[in-house]
Amino acid sequence: MKTCPIHGPIPDDLISCRACAERKSREMTLHQQKEYLPEILSSQRELTLSRPASERRWHILLAGVRGLTFCGSTSHPSWRRRRTTYAEMGYIAICSGCHDTLEGLVKEIDSAEVR
Ligand SMILES: [Zn+2]
Ligand SMILES: [Zn+2]
Repeated sequence: MKTCPIHGPIPDDLISCRACAERKSREMTLHQQKEYLPEILSSQRELTLSRPASERRWHILLAGVRGLTFCGSTSHPSWRRRRTTYAEMGYIAICSGCHDTLEGLVKEIDSAEVR
């Protein structure tokens, strides 16, 4: 039986660790968001926010990807939606996971530009 160094034994019907594959694909998806960040930061591209009616805070949908949020949730078609710009986002209650993930990418871009 194969073993993942992080997650332990891998079931025989899988070719690699599912948790690691999911993490890698999420990292790839987030990495791709950097392409949109300059437009988002200059408010040329709007962000789409989405939340279930029962929640107060809005999740931020990934740009160019259907139904996925920055914190890793999946937006449901029944969720409410609204659009905002990065500049106006500061006045809206945002999911802390989405906010921190987005700001983390912004920081990565900033430090890449300094070099
Ligand atoms: Zn793993
Ligand atoms: Zn979120």
